[in-house]
Amino acid sequence: MALIACAFCKGKGKDPFGLLSKLADCQVCKGTGKVEVPWPMVECAFCKGSGIHPHSRITCSACRGKGRTAFRGAKEECLNCGGRGYKVDGNLPCSVCQGTGIVHKEGG
Ligand SMILES: [Zn+2]
Ligand SMILES: [Zn+2]
Ligand SMILES: [Zn+2]
Repeated sequence: MALIACAFCKGKGKDPFGLLSKLADCQVCKGTGKVEVPWPMVECAFCKGSGIHPHSRITCSACRGKGRTAFRGAKEECLNCGGRGYKVDGNLPCSVCQGTGIVHKEGG
């Protein structure tokens, strides 16, 4: 595991959109500004590492707001989504790579 700055609130510990209250704690890091992520990891392609869903003001459904997802081993671009982490409409993470944009290389 590795401790990184929370992508959703950019390490500030506060809800970036203030939907409940301007003083509400970030729901991803619980106000600490830091999140634990599995190691090794890659940047989430679905939200481009921002932790924010590309189409709504909610946490990214692929990485749950952390901006990073676990990935171990040899990788290659996901052919299903072309490495973008989402299919054409962009509302849901790619079902093959779960939003990472990469898949395990066969044989690797
Ligand atoms: Zn946070
Ligand atoms: Zn994400
Ligand atoms: Zn994909």
